[in-house]
Amino acid sequence: MNENLYLKRLFHTYYKEKASTLPQVSFIDKREFASIPWEHFYMERHTGLNDKNILTQYIIDRSPKHFYYSGSLYLQPDNKNMENKGYQGCDFIIDIDVDHFFTPCKNRHDYWRCKNCDTSGKGMITKCPKCKSKKLKTLSWICESCLNKAKEEILKIIYDFLIPDFNISDKDMNIAFSGHRGYHLKIENEKMRGLSGEDRREIANYLTGENISLDILGIQEKEGVIYGLSKESIGWPSKIITKIEEFLLKPIPEIEAFLLDKNYVGFGPNLVKAFINSKDDFYEILTRQDHNIWFINDFGKARWFKFLNGMIADIGAEIDIPVTVDIHRLIRYPGSLHGKTGFKVQELTLNELKNFNPLDEKNEKLDPIVFEGKKDLTHKLKIIENTTPMTKIKGEQYGPYKNGEIIEVPHHIAVFLLCKGVAKTI
Ligand SMILES: [Zn+2]
Ligand SMILES: [Zn+2]
Repeated sequence: MNENLYLKRLFHTYYKEKASTLPQVSFIDKREFASIPWEHFYMERHTGLNDKNILTQYIIDRSPKHFYYSGSLYLQPDNKNMENKGYQGCDFIIDIDVDHFFTPCKNRHDYWRCKNCDTSGKGMITKCPKCKSKKLKTLSWICESCLNKAKEEILKIIYDFLIPDFNISDKDMNIAFSGHRGYHLKIENEKMRGLSGEDRREIANYLTGENISLDILGIQEKEGVIYGLSKESIGWPSKIITKIEEFLLKPIPEIEAFLLDKNYVGFGPNLVKAFINSKDDFYEILTRQDHNIWFINDFGKARWFKFLNGMIADIGAEIDIPVTVDIHRLIRYPGSLHGKTGFKVQELTLNELKNFNPLDEKNEKLDPIVFEGKKDLTHKLKIIENTTPMTKIKGEQYGPYKNGEIIEVPHHIAVFLLCKGVAKTI
């Protein structure tokens, strides 16, 4: 059977049973809805669904591969011309998706192939290392450590930024597992809804630490003496000082690794040695309230800046900035199914998020893997992708698989592999 038709029928059955229990987003009648069907690849936009009943019927009838709604509110959400939609404001959206940042395990489970010169390899790249083409076919996989990293990032945003610096209350936060490799966080309050694209960019930069000027934060060099950050400051200077204090108390090999790592500081071995030799004195300076003259042998302003920028990179959150800035962005509807995995977009409270484990969730109410359960139901599939990485779901490992391999797997794994497009039914 045609795989897309099969998956569409499965989604349809699921929605027929569950659509009435889908979470209801606020202001349904003012949101734009959109879907990507199973039959083609382009998004069908500008749908208005006036109330919950219409929405429920729409999702049952269409059972789309992907289903989205707008962060924005419009007077005429179904108007096809963006200018004439009657924009009323937009929720503040933060998207954390492992697709957009580096995790070491990608070297094990993500693949790419250059469409221009056919070179292929593992890991995360933005252009072909051989011909520099950006036309890449990629296969990105789900993985527990990537998803843990995404969760760490979202908790960091909430506890290190949104609550202390922006005074956002957790009742205004809507958190959801995206159904694939990340999380969405939506802030719904009048103040945030009124922000312009520029305001949003400023906040996004604040969250990532991008464009922070250490000069403006107050680092100065006078006659060879470095005047560092002051402990009394709030916001970023205080985050940096706290981070450095924690850092200096870490075991030496960890400090060395961070200083050598080009993704963070990228010092050479001699500078690392100089830093380690002075680290206890530096710690003492930092923890004294009355003193901000920083000293490490051979460290001028440029080296301090390099070190501090590494700290900033570690403190800042990995968010997908365009999603936050773009006021016409669409996000996945909570409770809908993700067509690349068959997993549910799962809404979570802040408390639920802390222990949430999407690939092995014990709380049935929060379990995004909705096609599990039919224990004895297995499917025979043929693998059609050159390299299919190992998948660990519910504590069980499946794969890795080779092209042409015939496998027999439980229903929920079959749905996942078919959604991923790496297998077909036989
Ligand atoms: Zn190439
Ligand atoms: Zn991973």
